[in-house]
Amino acid sequence: MSGTICRTVLLIEGNAQEAASIREMLHPLGSHTFELAHVETVSEAMTHLTEHVVDVILLDLGSGGVVGQETLRQVRQAAPRVSIVLLFSLAAEPMARQAMRDGAQDYLIKGEMQSQELVRALENAIERKAIEESLFEEKERAQVTLDSIGDAVISADVEGRITFLNLVAERLTGWPAPEASGLKMDEVFRIEDATTRVTIPNPMNQAVALNRVGHLPTNCVLIRRDGHEIFIEDSAAPIHNRIGGITGSVIVFRDVSTARALAEETIHASQHDFLTGLPNRLLLNDRLGQAIALAKRRATSVAVLFMDLDGFKHINDSLGHLVGDKLLQSIAKRLTALIRTPDTVSRQGGDEFVVLLQEIGTSEDAAIVAKRIIQAVSQVHSIGEHELYVTASIGVSLYPQDGLDAEALMKNADTAMYRAKDLGRQCFKFFKPAMNIRAVERQKMEEELRQALVTKQFELYYQPRVDVLTGSVVGAEALLRWTHPERGPVAAIKFIPVAEDSGLILPIGSWVLREACGQAKAWLDQGLAAIPMSINVSGIQLQDATFLYEVLAMLEETKLAPGLLELELTESVLMHLPEYAQSALRYLRDLGVTVSIDDFGTGYSSLSCLKRLPIDSLKIDQSFLQQMNGSPDSAAIAIAIIRMGKSLNLRVVAEGVESVEDVVFLQEHECDEAQGFYFSHPMPADQFADLLRKRTLYCAPAEEKYTHTMRALSKTAS
Ligand code: C2E
Ligand code: MG
Ligand code: MG
Repeated sequence: MSGTICRTVLLIEGNAQEAASIREMLHPLGSHTFELAHVETVSEAMTHLTEHVVDVILLDLGSGGVVGQETLRQVRQAAPRVSIVLLFSLAAEPMARQAMRDGAQDYLIKGEMQSQELVRALENAIERKAIEESLFEEKERAQVTLDSIGDAVISADVEGRITFLNLVAERLTGWPAPEASGLKMDEVFRIEDATTRVTIPNPMNQAVALNRVGHLPTNCVLIRRDGHEIFIEDSAAPIHNRIGGITGSVIVFRDVSTARALAEETIHASQHDFLTGLPNRLLLNDRLGQAIALAKRRATSVAVLFMDLDGFKHINDSLGHLVGDKLLQSIAKRLTALIRTPDTVSRQGGDEFVVLLQEIGTSEDAAIVAKRIIQAVSQVHSIGEHELYVTASIGVSLYPQDGLDAEALMKNADTAMYRAKDLGRQCFKFFKPAMNIRAVERQKMEEELRQALVTKQFELYYQPRVDVLTGSVVGAEALLRWTHPERGPVAAIKFIPVAEDSGLILPIGSWVLREACGQAKAWLDQGLAAIPMSINVSGIQLQDATFLYEVLAMLEETKLAPGLLELELTESVLMHLPEYAQSALRYLRDLGVTVSIDDFGTGYSSLSCLKRLPIDSLKIDQSFLQQMNGSPDSAAIAIAIIRMGKSLNLRVVAEGVESVEDVVFLQEHECDEAQGFYFSHPMPADQFADLLRKRTLYCAPAEEKYTHTMRALSKTAS
């Protein structure tokens, strides 16, 4: 028996004679060895099947009928994995075909069959069953595989009717496979463009029509059965039969909503400012480029408004970054509320914002927006317990006249913004080509200032401060003078801002401090009156951590008594002084150094702030006296400042006193001191020494009221 496989046949045959004849047909047979077991009834067969392995069942159903059908069902149930060959009588042939559909592998008609035929039928039946089993297993395996992958799979026949959905596909479409099966693909797999909402043709139909793998366009959403939308990505392929004919198609797709949201978030983050949520430099550049292209085609204009906050650094330094950040957010909100939809507000970083106005008619349109922005920004910002005021300076450039590309427009708007700052802030300026020349000049001046320090082109002039009642000199203000070797004298208001911007004010300020303290000490040593020396200190100097030590070192070096040194700080600098600078000032005051507020009335100091500050005197800005003739308001403000200063126990000094009327006015309103061209222009040190030596009185002491003084004054003036 070696080399042959022994097959076991279970014959279910009620007729013993027929059973014997079948046994005969199967034995003896060379290589095809069948081992035959015979039972007479189905129930015997069932018992047999529980105890033995059987390869094929040979079942006699006689003439078939309902009983036959039921018998077959029972046998199949008892041995679902065993192939069954039926025996029928001749008359039962139609019944036999039905039995094949019910699960039998083959049938034979009794009386007509030969031994070989029987053997072949049994062998074929065994083989067919084995193939069926393995196909089933394969299908099972495929189903399990498809259900366990993360992608959705749907297949359809060549007409586009659904034949299969895996679990993921069921979940994503919302259709259970049994319900979807047989439906047209478009009913179950509805896809649209997320933006245009246009229905997208089914890629499976295309795969079949074009006989190649196809893909969905990007930005595609699947509309689930319940209406919910899911972003998907896919590929669809035709399915071929053995000879290459198309029998259907399969689509594999996946939910990319999360990945897409993440990608969108990343893109958003890379194009927006994290603090304000506004478009950043990158996105603005992009939009500006588009706006220019559009304006070129339509022959319209584009405006770039470059905005920088005035004094933001002080707020940030004095109140902290948290408050500064909130202020920037508040400003972002106001700017956004001001513009139309196609326009863009962006934050460039720090306290710089850029507004892009698309398709404007005339430059006047840009001017209107710029004015509105300045107005909106200047309104109070309530940040926590702080009521903050801040102003903005804006530079405007226009396409095409100020530049043909984004870079030129941005650069020129920036230049115009600096011009607006130079012109006193809280205003806007349109770009002019001359401004570029100014920018170059500024750069040049910076280098020249550096040179000036090295080659000693600086000098200090001194202007007397006069007691309004006695007319005597009670102080000197040191004022910096720069004489350029070619251009001659340069005004302080021209070069001091450049020195501040470039940081050169630090070494220059040190020079002034040493020079002025040294001079004051020299006058003392010459036996002249001991009067305090006032020095102008820039905010940048004060914020420098070494300032305190520098002053101490100079006092030490020059041996000047601290009581003879006075520091002049502008109002805006004092208002926004960081805590450490305030304590430095307090320390110096404790030593005897005095502090005064310069240019008072031009900033926005609050009374409570004034009370807290370590100051001794205030200097009324010269603009008030200068405008007094034309404007009663200025006189009223000057009077109010004098009274306020007095009530705060501060000495009040009037600056820019140019006429006798000014002096009379100051005497009448009991201002303490005055300074101005009426008394003396600033002068070199030796001239000032003469003045002290001669104990010059600028006016006779006012003994009674001002009528008396008037007389005295007109005498000196003549
Ligand atoms: P300031 O401290 O308010 O100085 C007074 C300015 O007014 C001086 O101008 C002075 O020459 C001018 N002045 C005095 N009396 C009159 C008058 O009756 N009429 C008019 N129209 N002007 C008068 P200057 O020297 O050109 O200085 C301008 C500003 O530059 C100063 O204003 C001060 O803020 C700054 N500055 C001057 N020297 C220094 C310095 O050494 N360091 C710093 N940081 N700033 C300085
Ligand atoms: Mg001053
Ligand atoms: Mg001043």
